[in-house]
Amino acid sequence: MDATTTQATIRRIESVVPLETWRRLAEKARRQGLRAFRLNADARTWAVTSHSQPGAAYEVTILDGDLLCSCPGSAYYPYCKHRALVLAELGLLGDLAEDRPARRSRSRRRARAA
Ligand SMILES: [Zn+2]
Repeated sequence: MDATTTQATIRRIESVVPLETWRRLAEKARRQGLRAFRLNADARTWAVTSHSQPGAAYEVTILDGDLLCSCPGSAYYPYCKHRALVLAELGLLGDLAEDRPARRSRSRRRARAA
C-alpha cells in the first residue's frame, strides 16, 4: 500500500473509533489466535479467521481508505477485531501490548514452550 492510501486509511479508522480502541481489538484478536491472510498477496484484500465459528474466515477489504468486513457484527458496528487485526498486520496501529517483550509472558507462550 502506498503512503497516501495508508494516511487516508489511518484518518478514516480514527474517525470511527480512537486508535487505542483499534489496538485493544487487535490485541484481543491475537489473544484469541485469529489469523490474517493476504488474498492473492494483495495488501487490500484479506481473510481473517473466525473465533466464534471454527473453520470460517471473514473477508476484510480496504477500499479507498475505507475498511470493510464481512462478519455478522459489521452489519451493526463500523469496527471489529477482524479489521483491527488487518490494521495491526499492516503496521498501522504501532506496537501492540502483545508485541512488547516487557509484558510478562502469557500462559499461552508457556504452554507452547512446554
Ligand atoms: Zn469483522
